[in-house]
Amino acid sequence: MKEYGEEYVKKYVAVPGYSEHHTGLALDLFLIIDGKGVYLNEDMVQYPEIWDKIHAKLADHGFILRYLPEKKIETGYSYEPWHIRYIDDVDAAREIMDKGITYERYLGELDPMIADCTVDYGSSKLYAESDIDGAIDPILAEFSTWEGCTLKSLAFTDDATCEKELESANKLRDEGTEEFTQALVLTSAFHTPSAEQVEGTAWEPDTDYEDWTWLLARRSSEDSWELLTWGLG
Ligand SMILES: [Zn+2]
Repeated sequence: MKEYGEEYVKKYVAVPGYSEHHTGLALDLFLIIDGKGVYLNEDMVQYPEIWDKIHAKLADHGFILRYLPEKKIETGYSYEPWHIRYIDDVDAAREIMDKGITYERYLGELDPMIADCTVDYGSSKLYAESDIDGAIDPILAEFSTWEGCTLKSLAFTDDATCEKELESANKLRDEGTEEFTQALVLTSAFHTPSAEQVEGTAWEPDTDYEDWTWLLARRSSEDSWELLTWGLG
């Protein structure tokens, strides 16, 4: 926390007692390149070709890659090429790795709220995948209060939209707080539940809502995203 800050810790570090490492079945790998150890997460991600070769061999030994790219919505973690898990079943490991699915999906343990949700990270020069991942928790915290609704898609818009919306974000800022420096805009689609479940809400029952927009902002690249507003259009 002292070294990397809260945003980083939320992305990569489990709260005490909840790390998969407590099972004794997970390992974090590191690299030795030209005789020099590469241990830091931010350095290790600079070698995608090496990780591809390592990941291709995991299943042969009963291991799987646990925190896949672009799957934070399912695993709760951003991409960790170094974190592998032993599952004691070479065939299952091979199936998981061949399909490129998360362990949660393989076990059928995904929350129905997000089980059918696709996440499109788009192409951004402003934000890395892990920046966009930072929006998932605040959006899900809000979305989970919409009883029975299921998320169908979540998509990064584009850099120009994010830059344009910084002004609107600052208008929504709490009085007396520092200006936001970055905005993040995502769109989503979701499905509403049956008539009984939507009673007393603004939703039509059993309906797909498209083009639902979420606006988030932060003050520097180390800060967490604040969810400011959401709605149609
Ligand atoms: Zn780990």
